[in-house]
Amino acid sequence: MTNKQIALITGANRGIGYETARQLGARGLTVLVGARSAERGAEAAEKLRAEGIDARALEIDATDAASITRAAAWIDAEFGRLDVLVNNAGISGGTFDKPSETDVDRMREVFETNVFGIVTVTNAMLPLLRNAPAARIVQVSSEVGSIGFLMDQTSPMWSAAAISYPASKAALNMVTAMYAKELWDTPIKVNAANPGYCATDFNGNSGFRTATQGAEVSVALATLAEDGPTGQLWGYRWGSEDDTVLGQLPW
Ligand code: NAP
Repeated sequence: MTNKQIALITGANRGIGYETARQLGARGLTVLVGARSAERGAEAAEKLRAEGIDARALEIDATDAASITRAAAWIDAEFGRLDVLVNNAGISGGTFDKPSETDVDRMREVFETNVFGIVTVTNAMLPLLRNAPAARIVQVSSEVGSIGFLMDQTSPMWSAAAISYPASKAALNMVTAMYAKELWDTPIKVNAANPGYCATDFNGNSGFRTATQGAEVSVALATLAEDGPTGQLWGYRWGSEDDTVLGQLPW
């Protein structure tokens, strides 16, 4: 049984998830590189190992309950616990249609990954997280899921008026808050991360932050001290006086 902390990051084969695995690995954690494709996960884990990181690939698809059950059983057999869960896997749905033009089937797909998938993964991993001394759960959300931010006429996001992706992240914010309440009297902390707008495949590399910066938010929440927050949306505050400073955002 290893003394090293074990972290699972979903969607870690590229983008912000890969960077999160790299940064947690550089801090000495054993990182389980979650990927829905075994091949892409193995490639990413190999790249990380070449940097001296203790990385293991783990096949896990947020929309496939059987793969989630298998992943949890494998972690249990290998380590018997999980110290950090970063639910990073997410999709945009590829559309920012107006509410009146929303394709509900596509919206459902976005919710399958961004909301239902995260609840399924979290519930499957909770027994392992409870076995760790003070586990951390990071739900990778977005400022786009903040109703307060999107309804603020002075915010840079006032012009955003789509449903699927923003509503999925707003739902994830509530999911985060409710897990934090359920686990309030335990050492487990549950927070939602706002990586900010990062240049990744997700947005055709149009973001003005880097994946490395986005990952720093998840890493900070994954390594919170005992007196750190729980039940917060936390990260970059775009539109604030200093949007490079990390902190709490309005729900
Ligand atoms: P990305 O480059 O598109 O990477 C997404 C990752 O999620 C990929 O590894 C992808 O795997 C994986 N994934 C997608 N669906 C999955 C599923 N069903 N099961 C398992 N893995 C799945 O995106 P990113 O920019 O790094 O975004 C990561 C997270 O940050 C997402 O939750 C996103 O909503 C959030 N976020 C991003 C930004 C931004 O500006 N980039 C801003 C705010 C929040 P494949 O390689 O197999 O497709």
